[in-house]
Amino acid sequence: MYMRKTKIVCTLGPASIDVKVIRDLIKNGMDVARLNFSHGSYDDHHTVAQNVRQEAYKLGKNIAILQDLQGIKIRLSNVQKGEIELKTGAKIRLKPGSSDSTIDCLYISYPPLIKDLKKGDLVLIDDGLIKLQVVSKDDNQLFAEIIEGGLVKSKKGVNLPTAKTTIKAFTDKDKKDLVFGTKLGVDYLAVSFVRTAEDIAIIKTWAKKQKINLPPIIAKIEKPEALNNLNEILEIVDGIMVARGDLGVEMPTEQVPIIQKMLIEEANKKGKIVITATQMLESMRYHTRPTRAEATDVSNAVLDGTDALMLSAETAAGEFPVEAVRMMDTIIRFTEENLFKRVGSFYQLGRGFPEAIAACAKEAAQDIDAKAIVVFSHSGFTARLLSKLKSSVPIIAFTPDQKVVRSMSLFWGTYGRLLETPDIGILDEVFMKTVEKNLIKEGFIQKGDNIILAASSPFLGKANIIRLHKVL
Ligand code: PEP
Repeated sequence: MYMRKTKIVCTLGPASIDVKVIRDLIKNGMDVARLNFSHGSYDDHHTVAQNVRQEAYKLGKNIAILQDLQGIKIRLSNVQKGEIELKTGAKIRLKPGSSDSTIDCLYISYPPLIKDLKKGDLVLIDDGLIKLQVVSKDDNQLFAEIIEGGLVKSKKGVNLPTAKTTIKAFTDKDKKDLVFGTKLGVDYLAVSFVRTAEDIAIIKTWAKKQKINLPPIIAKIEKPEALNNLNEILEIVDGIMVARGDLGVEMPTEQVPIIQKMLIEEANKKGKIVITATQMLESMRYHTRPTRAEATDVSNAVLDGTDALMLSAETAAGEFPVEAVRMMDTIIRFTEENLFKRVGSFYQLGRGFPEAIAACAKEAAQDIDAKAIVVFSHSGFTARLLSKLKSSVPIIAFTPDQKVVRSMSLFWGTYGRLLETPDIGILDEVFMKTVEKNLIKEGFIQKGDNIILAASSPFLGKANIIRLHKVL
């Protein structure tokens, strides 16, 4: 049985709130369910989360839930009569606020608009389709030239790629949403429009004050400033998302493929999780098959070494959510089975007991043609180290904590399983029989296979034992 190593994140929305669709998404490859807090009511998110937990339980699968905070999403106000035509070359005024926008003045939901923007700065509307450039300003407004015009509709997204935005990334809505997400028991928290490590530190400090136990944090990289501060951001988070939607608006589109490769490489070097996101199978919103270019994009991200791929509108609002996840699963499997040699590990292993154990486990797995690396991990730390080494052998990670099991759904090549481990763990023959039985029952291994085991003794310490074992 081939175990797919690259994980699949599905964004759930109106097209996938239904319990049957969620069941089919799980059956066809969803590892992580993403709740996008830019859309949907608390009732909707609650229903989706409940349906995911219930169906995962029924199917015996471990599905993590990732909460994605909206952050400072800037929007245009309502537009007079629903749409207006902005003519290329014309002049227009820009003001902060929510009054109706007209062909003379656009209102934008960003209070420090006048203070933060200066002559030469760009204002992009509707995924960058409309481009304005600031030519001057006074105390009440900005004056801009329409560089690329077109039809503009109400509430379209606005990006300010060249401005140094001063507003706090962690909004009041995010705070409320985070409290709600914590009550739902989400397994990951994704933070939008991160610019600096400070943006994440603020959330951690706030959560500590509120006595909220934060799940692992994924920083969405979608602003040029985040690229400049990448090292510091990687230090403070558990992972990053290559959020190509906004990134491709804030940065020139032609740079996105190379930025993707750089972000994956940097995250892998530092042992952090990396998710590649947005428009991977975009045409499957309306069609049952992807374009050749989309299939190639999915495959290339796998070869770049991403831990997970994400579906957005395809599963949240598309006509074929289940077909989309099945297609993604199929493309990933074919790529991994045929081109595994090209998925290298960039991880720069530190020096310490768990690092040495992980390196030995990977090496020994190759030497004895092991069919699985089995790790007993309390917090998931050693399992993540092993995952980052990108061994060709599946990693089965046992832990006594259900939340840690679910978090492993995002670890490349890793399958989390619940099991209490006695303090002498892999040195205890009775316990070893239980482990073997579990692995055989699930089809990971058969009698006669070699396996590698890694653990710590005492169990609560850092990994310090490795055992090579033949299953008899
Ligand atoms: C993105 O911009 O690519 C992204 C993942 O963020 P969102 O879906 O929240 O726009």
